[in-house]
Amino acid sequence: MSISTENLNAIRETIKRIALLNAISHEGKAQTKPVLGKLLSEKPDLRGVARELVSLVDEIVREVNSMPLEEQIETVKKFWPEVLKKEREKKKEKAEEKTLPPLPNVEKYSRVVTRFAPNPDCVLHLGSARAIILSYEYAKKYNGLFIVRFEDTDPRLKKSSLEFMDLIRKDLEWLGCPPDKEYIQSDRIEIYYEYAEKLLKEGYAYICTCPPDEFRNRIRASEPCPCRNLTPEENLRRWESMLSGTYAEGEAVMRIKTDLEHPNPAIRDWPAFRIIDTRKYPHPRVGSKYRVWPLYNFACGIDDHLMGVTHIIRGKEHLTNQERQKYLYRYLGWEYPEAIHYGRLKIEGALLSKSKIVRGVREGLYTGWDDPRLATFLALRRRGIRPEAIRRLIIDIGPRSADITISWDNLYAYNRKIIDPIANRYFFLWNPVKLTVKNVKREFMVYIPLHPDHPERGNRSFHIKPLNNMVHLLISGDDAKQLKPKVIIRLMELFNIKIEKVNKDHILAVFHSESYAEAKKVSAQLIHWLPENEGLPCDVIMPNNSVITGLVEKSLKKVSPDEIVQFERFGFVRVESINEKIVTLFAHK
Ligand SMILES: [Zn+2]
Repeated sequence: MSISTENLNAIRETIKRIALLNAISHEGKAQTKPVLGKLLSEKPDLRGVARELVSLVDEIVREVNSMPLEEQIETVKKFWPEVLKKEREKKKEKAEEKTLPPLPNVEKYSRVVTRFAPNPDCVLHLGSARAIILSYEYAKKYNGLFIVRFEDTDPRLKKSSLEFMDLIRKDLEWLGCPPDKEYIQSDRIEIYYEYAEKLLKEGYAYICTCPPDEFRNRIRASEPCPCRNLTPEENLRRWESMLSGTYAEGEAVMRIKTDLEHPNPAIRDWPAFRIIDTRKYPHPRVGSKYRVWPLYNFACGIDDHLMGVTHIIRGKEHLTNQERQKYLYRYLGWEYPEAIHYGRLKIEGALLSKSKIVRGVREGLYTGWDDPRLATFLALRRRGIRPEAIRRLIIDIGPRSADITISWDNLYAYNRKIIDPIANRYFFLWNPVKLTVKNVKREFMVYIPLHPDHPERGNRSFHIKPLNNMVHLLISGDDAKQLKPKVIIRLMELFNIKIEKVNKDHILAVFHSESYAEAKKVSAQLIHWLPENEGLPCDVIMPNNSVITGLVEKSLKKVSPDEIVQFERFGFVRVESINEKIVTLFAHK
């Protein structure tokens, strides 16, 4: 292929534009290699004469580099104003990334303290993302403190485990939200006892031994149960009996006195402590050391104050809990922290029930905590969803109080923005089918950039050598199914072929032409391919845990596990392992 004078002038212009932009983004100094790479990705037809172009690019780069930066910018403004506009728009888009609205009453506190308080009875999933990310981001925004508090005070029904605590710590690390401080409630039981006794002594709480049904009926009718009017001395005696084991499980609870006329019966004299037989249900950290355990609202309310939490950021399903806890704060003479309640965030099609996840994994319904069907952070991470994508999505939604439903596609869109520039491209053929092309008269060396926008990352290369004018290739089964005789298609970056014969497991074609322009003329479909005998076996585990098997080009062997790549015309995948077989997980299109 030779270049005409007319063509050459156009090429010079293009090189100059690319070199100027390259120089402008590198303090006035362009470099030959990336300029050449960008040129070839813009004009793939020139790949055949890349060698001859090197000296021309070199010459223009030198010319551009001899100009001062201001002059480079002026030149681009004058001749290619639309290019700079695009760059500006990109910057503007970046600047417009949403930030969080301010927190209320920050000036009241010497330091903002937020917290995330998981029960370590499961790994974390997308449903916790909002609480974690908002609490973390707000703490950072105000140079404050982000606390993690493990709420492990139910050894019976919401049984925690040390395994989950560790996995949650790792989840937080991965999400980029490491806590400044960590507390575990099972270390703090004596503290809760201290406040229980104080409240009993001061008449703000009582030990109720009524059968639950009986109590419920009375409270619904706004009537006190007989225990409500016991003296503090009698209550403290009963409390001792709870601690010492005189009462069995279910025979006594400590209740906080509220308002029997409260319009919401759930607020009336709520339970603060109950007995759990820890000889039967030992706690994973403290065994059977305690048998009287605080309930959620008591432990949480006490801790938020003692830990200096200034801003509680949580879902609006906690509004009732706030009302319950406010009684405690009043009795203890404390001021309730600022509370921000966001609306429900639904993720279409995501299983967010912790008990279902735990049961499914324990019963072998799922392959583990990182089963691709789950919305756990472990599963998302394994599939190549980046924590920055989750973070960006959550910050954009913010702490608004309206309910909102997002789809997986919303999350994928955020993730695509992050991984598209990172992920190198490869050819993957699913259910490959043989393709023989006749009439190929010469050898082809094919160089394809690993990433079209990043020529500096280098190329993948294929050597196509005909034998008796024939080459044997493979294409994807899905592509093969669409082919019909006489149709012209372009084998990406190689040449154009005309289909002659379509069998179920073999396609016969004849060489048609070389240039991309020819293919464009007839609107030929572009399909990807591999030389026969060159593909490596590769599995793609899909989000529904099904497996697509195929062949991937051999240069993928150089990739390290955990890298995210794009299989062209297939989608983004995360490489999990590279052995005789390569295993990847599908992220999204
Ligand atoms: Zn009672």
